[in-house]
Amino acid sequence: MNLVHHVADAAAERGEAPALVYDGQETSYEAFWTRTGRFAAGLAEREIGAGDRVAIYLPNLPQFVTAFHGTLRAGGVVVPMNPQYKRRELRHLLGDSGAKAVVTLPDLVQHVDAVREETDVEAVVTVGEGDGDVRFEAFLADETRPIADRADEDVAVQPYTSGTTGTPKGVLLTHHNLAWDANASTNPIPDGIRPTDRHLGVLPLFHIYGMTVTMNATLFDGGSYYPLPAWDAEAAASLIEEAELTLVHAVPAMYNDLAGLPEDTKFDLSSIRFANSGGSGLPEEVRRAFEERFDVELHEGYGLTETSPVTHANHAGERRPGSIGRPLDGVSARIVDDAFDERPPVERGPVEEGSVDLDEITGELVVAGPNVMTGYYERPEANAEAFTEADGKRWFHTGDISYADEDGFFFVVDRKKHMINTAGYNVYPREVEELLFEHPAVADAAVVGIPDERRNETVKAFIVPEPDADATPEDVREYCLERLAAYKHPREVEFVEELPRTTTGKVQKFHLESRD
Ligand code: ATP
Repeated sequence: MNLVHHVADAAAERGEAPALVYDGQETSYEAFWTRTGRFAAGLAEREIGAGDRVAIYLPNLPQFVTAFHGTLRAGGVVVPMNPQYKRRELRHLLGDSGAKAVVTLPDLVQHVDAVREETDVEAVVTVGEGDGDVRFEAFLADETRPIADRADEDVAVQPYTSGTTGTPKGVLLTHHNLAWDANASTNPIPDGIRPTDRHLGVLPLFHIYGMTVTMNATLFDGGSYYPLPAWDAEAAASLIEEAELTLVHAVPAMYNDLAGLPEDTKFDLSSIRFANSGGSGLPEEVRRAFEERFDVELHEGYGLTETSPVTHANHAGERRPGSIGRPLDGVSARIVDDAFDERPPVERGPVEEGSVDLDEITGELVVAGPNVMTGYYERPEANAEAFTEADGKRWFHTGDISYADEDGFFFVVDRKKHMINTAGYNVYPREVEELLFEHPAVADAAVVGIPDERRNETVKAFIVPEPDADATPEDVREYCLERLAAYKHPREVEFVEELPRTTTGKVQKFHLESRD
């Protein structure tokens, strides 16, 4: 079934209620739904239809949402693209996907134009005045188009991996993958999403987390979605306070920024009834600081692009700090060693630091379920590596080193590719980062391994100091040495102004690893 049927149902029920609220302007369900039909008809007029790729290269704006559901309504496949991408990334994404249309901002058209000859792009649709073939409003046809029939297993969205470990791969997510996950992702919220809910839309829509958990989940259930095109902690806090937003999904870096807003800015965020963090590990200190400042409980969830994304979550009322929660009902999860043998769970997590040899209890987290992608687009080798068939299931390898406890809670130690091997010991950067966050002079921290002739790799910490901090890098190094096994402590500590992060808040460790 075409996933937009869920939006159509909500639109039929909610009529005049606001589907989108952007910059104080409301768009009702009825108006939004009509616009998606007109967008679908605009595609049809250009003979873009079933199975054709439409790239959406926009920040979080109402037009993103219209183009997204309009493309699916026409039976097309959305290729979401990070608006920070430039020529090199576009050449690969547009070329690989074979996109026929691009919806973008006038300022970004130059990047599309630079590679257009090498692609199949027939129409560049722009939001606002400027270059491009046709403006968004003119692209909308006068009439609307009915929902195109799509089978559950037809591809709906083709996002690309970020490419930190090679050429970005297209991830094939079906209508069923995405609809299932948007619905299941609301289970941790008391009563799910209610029509009266107002959801912060700051997670980028080009990324699966924002797309499924904020946009789709809200529009399936008749709530109101508040897109914000860029992250600014003060602007987000003001919006939450003024519009009395009830649901917030964000990444740890955003919660860290909110907790660190100047003391004299007094924001009342008590309208939030459920807040969740995902996308990367939530440092304990960030959770504590956010909760103390705003008196709002912060829950953690987990997922990947390849799993639409949510596989694990902490439910309201039964969360366990430090854990990514339990698998969603319908998702199977296992911790396996290199031979794919299951690792037994520990009695109760999280394990006390230093009380157990992590190498003995951890393995790779593998998952199976209705939200797992069909595969990577035209990448047979990557697909062979990503999946293992066992016990009648097709297990996807997450690449995350994890353990589970007997109560069914899972704990992510770190990503396999981030593990540091120093003088024969394994060091998980996250453990060192958690400790660094507890230091009063540390506002932000990231730990990486840097090449070392003698030890293979050396642990190095990059620290963003608090503005009034008087600690030196040497103080921070000694602080770690006093509290950690010697091989784990960062032998090098560098203070920096900020950490390189992706738009989804992840530290770009490859930039730090390759710094002189
Ligand atoms: P690429 O795979 O191209 O490098 P990416 O890793 O940023 O890109 P995503 O699908 O956005 O791709 O991220 C999924 C990863 O995010 C997971 O494998 C995991 O490492 C991390 N992650 C997400 N949520 C959590 C969490 N709650 N705790 C720890 N790690 C998390």
